[in-house]
Amino acid sequence: MPLIDNFGRQIDYLRISVTDRCDLRCSYCMPEGFTDYETPKDWLRFTEIARLVRIFSRHGLKRIRLTGGEPLLRAGLPELVGMLAKIDGITDIALSTNGTQLSKHAKALKAAGLTRFNVSLDTLDAARFARIAKRDALSNVLAGLDQISAEGFKSTKINMVWLNESTWAELEAMIAYCRERGFILRLIENMPMGEAARQMGSSSLQPLITKIKNRFALLDGVIPGGGPARYLVSSDQRFSIGFITPLSQHFCATCNRVRLTVEGSLHLCLGQEHRLDFRELMRSGATDDELDAALLLGIARKPERHEFNERPAMLIRPMSKTGG
Ligand code: SAM
Ligand code: SF4
Repeated sequence: MPLIDNFGRQIDYLRISVTDRCDLRCSYCMPEGFTDYETPKDWLRFTEIARLVRIFSRHGLKRIRLTGGEPLLRAGLPELVGMLAKIDGITDIALSTNGTQLSKHAKALKAAGLTRFNVSLDTLDAARFARIAKRDALSNVLAGLDQISAEGFKSTKINMVWLNESTWAELEAMIAYCRERGFILRLIENMPMGEAARQMGSSSLQPLITKIKNRFALLDGVIPGGGPARYLVSSDQRFSIGFITPLSQHFCATCNRVRLTVEGSLHLCLGQEHRLDFRELMRSGATDDELDAALLLGIARKPERHEFNERPAMLIRPMSKTGG
């Protein structure tokens, strides 16, 4: 039986946060001095994560994304990838990463069965990178991206959060970089998740979409597995750029995903507080059928949409705690 929520949406995509820690401090995500971390005893063990994925897979789960915090900080991540890759029905295991540790781990992740990467990269200017991420790590990220290309990974996406201080020159440099390497670029509106993100403000991407479309003679397009983004594609199909616009044009009506946090809460919407505690259930001895029943109840409670515009101050948790 597929997982269908009360608004007729089929949930077949699970994002799993494997840590809430990070080696960067992106201004819109994790504030400097942030210390509100989960304690290791509360982190779901790999066996617990795999157990939950098996329950989800009874209902047609196909796609998984591992995220965080920075997922490559979780020791032994390729082992988890290997466990998930063996579960019936799972055809796609992607990883969202800031890329700082990619050079070290790309080969082992490939061998374990990882299929794709999304790498966050907001600028190619080293000084700006250090200002945004509060760490001087651009060269590590670029080396990591070279490494995943060398390993033969395809459909790599570059996630660039569009900030009020982002510039057209910066965007042109990023487009040239992605076009040359065959990376799919995605621009993202800053979501008001946590005080730091809220204070930075957010600009609608809509005027920029028109400008990019005209300047680079792009056409409306679709990317398989492209998720909640509108895409523009070059006429030779060799370059694509997507726009994730939760504030200026939300895609909640087609939302197909839920998110599992490192401490075992299933969040039913990125922009709402509705959640279900699976760690407590599992550690108090729930059977697989009881977990399954809880999952069905949870999905029935998935909210219709976020309220980033109507209630921007409602979320105090930063993205790094939920898993973006
Ligand atoms: N550390 C990894 C990374 O940076 O890709 C994975 C976790 S990060 C929370 C996942 C994605 O969320 C990144 O692409 C990041 O840019 C995005 N993100 C974080 N805070 C955001 C915000 N306030 N608005 C929009 N996107 C945000
Ligand atoms: Fe870390 Fe990713 Fe958040 Fe940046 S966006 S602080 S890399 S979790």
